[in-house]
Amino acid sequence: MKTIGVLTSGGDAPGMNAAIRAVVRSANYHGIEVYGIKRGFRGLLEKNYEVLDSRSVSDILQKGGTFLKTARCPEFNTPEGVIKARDIINDLGLDALVVIGGDGSIRGGAELAKQGIKVIALPGSIDNDMGYTDYTIGFDTAITTVMHAVSNLRDTSSSHGRVFVVQVMGRECGDIALHAGIICGAEEVIVPEVPFDLKELSANMKRSMARGKDHYIILLAEGAADPFEFTEELKELSGLNTRLNIIGYLQRGGSPSSFDRMLATRMGVYAIDLLMEGVENVAVGIKGNDIVHEELYKAVEVRDSLDRDLYEIAKILAV
Ligand code: ADP
Repeated sequence: MKTIGVLTSGGDAPGMNAAIRAVVRSANYHGIEVYGIKRGFRGLLEKNYEVLDSRSVSDILQKGGTFLKTARCPEFNTPEGVIKARDIINDLGLDALVVIGGDGSIRGGAELAKQGIKVIALPGSIDNDMGYTDYTIGFDTAITTVMHAVSNLRDTSSSHGRVFVVQVMGRECGDIALHAGIICGAEEVIVPEVPFDLKELSANMKRSMARGKDHYIILLAEGAADPFEFTEELKELSGLNTRLNIIGYLQRGGSPSSFDRMLATRMGVYAIDLLMEGVENVAVGIKGNDIVHEELYKAVEVRDSLDRDLYEIAKILAV
């Protein structure tokens, strides 16, 4: 193992920089040269890269986003694109590629692995939508951002006796809504994995307000319902003053939390350890407090990994 590439792809996530830093410094420690590929698979197809050393990754640990930049690349997502990328990796003399990104990016990595490229993937996504790992890099920071936003909203919800629907990210996964719902003490959590009934919801809202609750926060995962229709229908059914807040891209940025910095760092170092041991074509994850790895093709299997026990806890505590 003499030279490797590292790239970030898909949606940016806080902690990606910490992961790049760990990959570069750990690789250099083992005498491996690192090519930082810009803008994900797009940059790979354009041979857009720079050699990274310890100094290149100074002062990025604490920064959100990704200093290597990221992109979505439809051209790569074709059989011809993958072959072209394979040929470029071979031309550049890269012995392996570290892909940091969401499930789409890890799928891309799996396609390259099928073409004989050695790939190690790190889960960089705020969505926590990969079932093989308990946490993805960026999730903890995102739910902390949601927590602060909802704390502010709660002040107004209480002062005015308003119902706030707060839409959060997560694509088809309800983890951001569920975890943020628990740490914010939301009255309701609506996730794509569990069906909901608007009539029941509005009855709950009316009952709670009648019992003296002066605030009502509903955390709505983006994959669960259209936020505008959801809010409008609830407002009509309940007759309560119901307002929608879409937190949006605020959730994607920001300085990574201590948890994400630690997770990204451990995963980055582990990725290089795996390559040193001759392990390839795996995705790095965390189970409990152990950093683990899973075969790439298994890691990208779509799985509903919502923690049903946690969902029940959210319901029990919301009364
Ligand atoms: P994320 O990695 O955040 O889930 P995307 O799903 O948009 O984001 O994927 C990022 C990029 O990964 C895509 O633009 C594409 O280049 C590549 N990719 C996604 N899915 C595949 C696939 N099935 N095969 C090859 N490449 C893929």
